[in-house]
Amino acid sequence: MSTSFASPGRKPRVAVIGAGAFGGWTALHLLRSGANVTLVDAWGPGNSRASSGGETRIIRGTYGPRAPYVHMAARALQLWKENERRWNQKLFHRTGVLWMASPDGAYEKASLPLLREAGIEFEELHDAEARKRFPQINFENVKWSIWEKESGFLTARRNCQVVLEHFIAEGGEYRELPATPGPIQGGEMRALMLPGGVSLTADQYVFACGPWLGKLVPDVIGERVRPTRQEVFFFGVPAGDARYTEAQMPTWIDNGPSGVFYGIPGNEWRGFKAADDTRGPETDPTSQERIPTPDAVRHIREFVEFRFPGLKGAPVVETRVCQYENTPDENFIMDRHPAAANAWLVGGGSGHGYKHGPAVGEMTAQLVLGKKQPDPFFELARFAKAKPPA
Ligand SMILES: Cc1cc2nc3c(=O)[nH]c(=O)nc-3n(C[C@H](O)[C@H](O)[C@H](O)COP(=O)(O)OP(=O)(O)OC[C@H]3O[C@@H](n4cnc5c(N)ncnc54)[C@H](O)[C@@H]3O)c2cc1C
Repeated sequence: MSTSFASPGRKPRVAVIGAGAFGGWTALHLLRSGANVTLVDAWGPGNSRASSGGETRIIRGTYGPRAPYVHMAARALQLWKENERRWNQKLFHRTGVLWMASPDGAYEKASLPLLREAGIEFEELHDAEARKRFPQINFENVKWSIWEKESGFLTARRNCQVVLEHFIAEGGEYRELPATPGPIQGGEMRALMLPGGVSLTADQYVFACGPWLGKLVPDVIGERVRPTRQEVFFFGVPAGDARYTEAQMPTWIDNGPSGVFYGIPGNEWRGFKAADDTRGPETDPTSQERIPTPDAVRHIREFVEFRFPGLKGAPVVETRVCQYENTPDENFIMDRHPAAANAWLVGGGSGHGYKHGPAVGEMTAQLVLGKKQPDPFFELARFAKAKPPA
């Protein structure tokens, strides 16, 4: 069902809650499509608590058999680059992405036809060729890799700020306040509640609240978005050694036998970033202390020293503690609120959402403006077929 609450000749008024990768880009696309948009965030775009608040995020097309994301990644990269040119501001670093294949290679083999279909350039690098190109990597246990030379990384928290700056410059309104969904009557949300009993009314409401979405909309989302604690480490590289910087080091993902590890060469001289993708314990994005645990430091150091032997003894120069906002199937949510035809729920990035921000924003804007129907892949109804929320 397509709903437009705007009267003819009047711009639709949309409130977007959350200025992270999903909400910021949604607000910008809505604005560029002719809506009157107010963007609201409790702590600001890419803030230290937000899932988009890290230094950098990977953008790649290798996604195993999950075709929708391969196409979305291709579209998102196009939009990142388009806006980079439009704003004359660097958002994307083309380092190439090296995906080291799992022992059976099934996930990676499933990726190849999809990469081809989406027009994402890649090469299959077998053992000897990979060693020749990247002598700083120990390829033990890795039979082959996918090399996406046009992919790379995005500066994460900074790009959220850049999106907000341009959203405001292009005519959007921004308010830094916590918001909660207002009453639902007659199948519509009537307002957004702000502190001090103040309400904000709009024709449509988009909740893009990342790891907070479950608590904010407990009856519909609840445990369907579960935040898990994730620790990230930056190692200091030897002075003058270009092997571990953007000059020679690709962005990488190791889909190895003991889980997925990933890393990004230092942005803004931050060091060599490495992290374990394994989901950590469940956490609260508002109150969790962001101090790394000694066990995680030991674990990542062991991995880094094995895969990048030249970094043996490298000190940890910086750390981050963040959280993934996981759905049960690790697929995003982009859907209408089941009880309010003018409210939309967008989130569940599940550790891989950032890169897709511009594409998610474009798709959500089309939904809100009644130009498209929700895609069943991202609909809430898929959970009804599985376990109900706790
Ligand atoms: C360590 C780590 C590594 C990752 N690596 C990658 C990667 O390499 N590539 C990739 O593509 N993705 C990656 N991700 C995932 C990606 O960062 C997230 O999926 C994405 O940033 C989620 O964006 P979001 O806008 O949904 O959420 P957020 O960025 O969390 O934004 C939500 C916003 O909503 C605001 N908010 C919440 N509640 C309220 C309220 N009540 N009122 C007002 N405002 C509110 C918050 O302040 C916040 O700014 C990684 C995530 C982590 C944690």
